[in-house]
Amino acid sequence: MPEDFGRKWQDTVQPRLEIQGLMRRFGGREVVSDVSLSIAAGQVSCLLGPSGCGKSTTLRLIAGVDMPDQGVIRVDGRPIVDARTRVPPEERGIGLMFQDFALFPHLTVSQNVAFGLPRHAPDRQGRVAELLERVGMTRHADKHPHELSGGEQQRVALARALAPRPGIMLMDEPFSGLDDRLRDDIRDETLAVLKAEGTAVLLVTHEPSEAMRMADEILLMRDGRIVQSGAPYTIYNNPVDLRAAAFFSDLN
Ligand code: ADP
Ligand code: MG
Repeated sequence: MPEDFGRKWQDTVQPRLEIQGLMRRFGGREVVSDVSLSIAAGQVSCLLGPSGCGKSTTLRLIAGVDMPDQGVIRVDGRPIVDARTRVPPEERGIGLMFQDFALFPHLTVSQNVAFGLPRHAPDRQGRVAELLERVGMTRHADKHPHELSGGEQQRVALARALAPRPGIMLMDEPFSGLDDRLRDDIRDETLAVLKAEGTAVLLVTHEPSEAMRMADEILLMRDGRIVQSGAPYTIYNNPVDLRAAAFFSDLN
């Protein structure tokens, strides 16, 4: 496949998520500065950068739990945030997954997955069954979270987040609570499920190895800015500067 295939394909398709000039200031300091990005359906972009560089703040602005001081956010071409617009979080069609995802302890696996679906949604049970199948948890459907391993709980959390078919999924270091042996498997499985669902994904991580493994595109962030973006091996082979090179050098 030619190296620029992804880029050309992306340019011809309406982006699912499009952000222009996003800025957020706390106490006079710009924590997010002029962030622009674009993600198509089925594409995984990784916002990669050291702790404190502004990744989680960026995600919160997109999710709608915080408001930018400047910038435009569009979903399928429709502005959800601009100078005049602020669509509430629950109407954005955006799913969220965080590290300390919590399943409801008193609900079964099926009930946890069904939780995000309207009670009278058509084929609610069918959707739950389809997702449990996708994440390989069908035989655990009637168990409670405390009967599951960490990796199994993670699979259920993914199914629950995907249940309402969000067009966009924001993931903030969702794998950092898992032990090393499990993590690669869960990453690969998660990626496969997200691709099968055609979701546009913005995955936040401070680990270069995670971004290299999962991303179609890496957005390298530093001090609130995206300093370089591109396909993983393009960035790895052509780091923008010494700091970027050093950041990737401890890749294992
Ligand atoms: P990351 O997720 O990349 O580790 P964050 O987005 O959490 O970084 O934080 C970026 C910077 O913004 C940090 O210096 C953090 O202390 C600061 N920050 C985040 N939220 C707030 C807030 N509500 N008020 C003031 N400062 C904040
Ligand atoms: Mg963070």
